[in-house]
Amino acid sequence: MAIVIRNYFITGWRSDRIGCECGWQGDSSKMRMELHEEVTDYVCPACENTLLIVSHPDIDQVRQAAADGNEEAQQQLALVEEALALHGKT
Ligand SMILES: [Zn+2]
Repeated sequence: MAIVIRNYFITGWRSDRIGCECGWQGDSSKMRMELHEEVTDYVCPACENTLLIVSHPDIDQVRQAAADGNEEAQQQLALVEEALALHGKT
């Protein structure tokens, strides 16, 4: 069963060690990423079982996490606001 992460910024999912049915163990950096529109799947490199499904953060989650001092969120928010500002000018 894949673990579903609904808030990208909140949990320690990125560094959690996860065991697969096939016996493989590791954190998300060792898994294969499959990008989708709404989520990113993290797949066991040994047997291609989906281990993690991570929802992409929406702008409210990014703003909240940035306000809470999450550095990655602050960087993302800066990029998003830059993009919005550019968009606004066209
Ligand atoms: Zn596996």
